[in-house]
Amino acid sequence: MTESTKQMYLQMGISENVFNFCNEIERTLSGRFKEIDEVAEYNQMKVLKAMQKNRVSDVHFAASTGYGYNDIGRDTLEQVYADTFHTETALVRPQLTCGTHALTIALSANLRPGDELYSPVGKPYDTLEGVIGIRDSVGSLKEYGVSYRQTDLLADGSFDYDNIAKAINDKTKLVTIQRSKGYTTRPTFSVKKIAELIAFIKKIKPDVICMVDNCYGEFVETVEPSDFGADMIVGSLIKNPGGGLAPIGGYIAGTNECIERCAYRLNAPGLGKEVGATLGLNQALYQGFFLAPTVTAGALKGALFASAIYEKLGFKVVPNSTESRHDIIQAIDFGSPEHVIAFCKGIQSAAPVDSHVDPEPWDMPGYDAPVIMAAGAFIQGSSIELSADGPIKPPYSVFFQGGLTWYHAKFGIIKSLQKMTEAGLIKL
Ligand SMILES: *Cc1c(COP(=O)(O)O)cnc(C)c1O
Repeated sequence: MTESTKQMYLQMGISENVFNFCNEIERTLSGRFKEIDEVAEYNQMKVLKAMQKNRVSDVHFAASTGYGYNDIGRDTLEQVYADTFHTETALVRPQLTCGTHALTIALSANLRPGDELYSPVGKPYDTLEGVIGIRDSVGSLKEYGVSYRQTDLLADGSFDYDNIAKAINDKTKLVTIQRSKGYTTRPTFSVKKIAELIAFIKKIKPDVICMVDNCYGEFVETVEPSDFGADMIVGSLIKNPGGGLAPIGGYIAGTNECIERCAYRLNAPGLGKEVGATLGLNQALYQGFFLAPTVTAGALKGALFASAIYEKLGFKVVPNSTESRHDIIQAIDFGSPEHVIAFCKGIQSAAPVDSHVDPEPWDMPGYDAPVIMAAGAFIQGSSIELSADGPIKPPYSVFFQGGLTWYHAKFGIIKSLQKMTEAGLIKL
């Protein structure tokens, strides 16, 4: 680090001892950073190969309107996703409004009244509770006669294979596997673990559909669950695969059979993939996918950096600074609301957008405690951009993710520590 870079940090409100402390930690991470870069390099080639194979060209960036018939940009982008994730086909659309919507389409398209949906990995992501009908909700799968069953993880976070074997029955049609821990403290599953689980399930019931909620996991490893028998992988374009450039969208990649049903469900029976105007968004979707491996690597470095800093200061961090990583989320248990608030204020004040805004906890609809959120994002709610949320309730954890560049993620984390030292919450 040059003296002028250090001076820049000092000018941006970082004190010398906070700066030195963080810099020391960063130096211990060089081996891990190299591994992250190697994964990114491989994934960059994987995406590039798919783009070249499909002869991506500027005609694919043209806008379609109305019905969107013959939108070759859209169709080619879907083939680029399919070739990158090694699936037969994919649905990649701005009309998939978010991750929850993409998952809802994948589920409702492939389940029929009388079928059972099964999660062998415990409770799914919060928003899916309403979709499935675990929490009563208008239009849930439950209202359409789809039942739901789950098997919880064992206490150490591993799969309860005995009970999984017992839970699979005649009605089991679709198995949903959430890769990321999301905003809980269970471990995130490696692709290898997911591969073992899928193999186990398919041995018991070969025709069951295995869907993986891949949110936050794309490009963290060199393989995806679709390389190991997942019939569908599903995610959001304002997370990893959008590379920070996609302004909206979701994807479902998988077998022809499953994805065709998804297209009929998203649009209308009989219409399917043929309609869906892209309104000029194609270029951002291609370019974001092209950048996604590098952007994901930057976010991963940020998560690791935060983990190492706060672990050193004695806080519980999940995952810790030596574990292998399978998603971009970092949880830190601070044990006090003041720490959570100071952390989020630090992240916010480091943002390129709305850095002057001071976040406060508020009673968000749907949450049982006030939540403080830090997000100074170019795209609303984008969590591949540097962001943090902290529910104000024990154990007073912060969930932190994203960063379009490693340098920005680094600055945000340093700033969070700066705020904490200024508030007298941490002494270095
Ligand atoms: C973010 C996320 C979702 C939902 O995505 P939204 O875009 O917020 O609707 C679902 N599952 C997991 C694991 C996620 O991280």
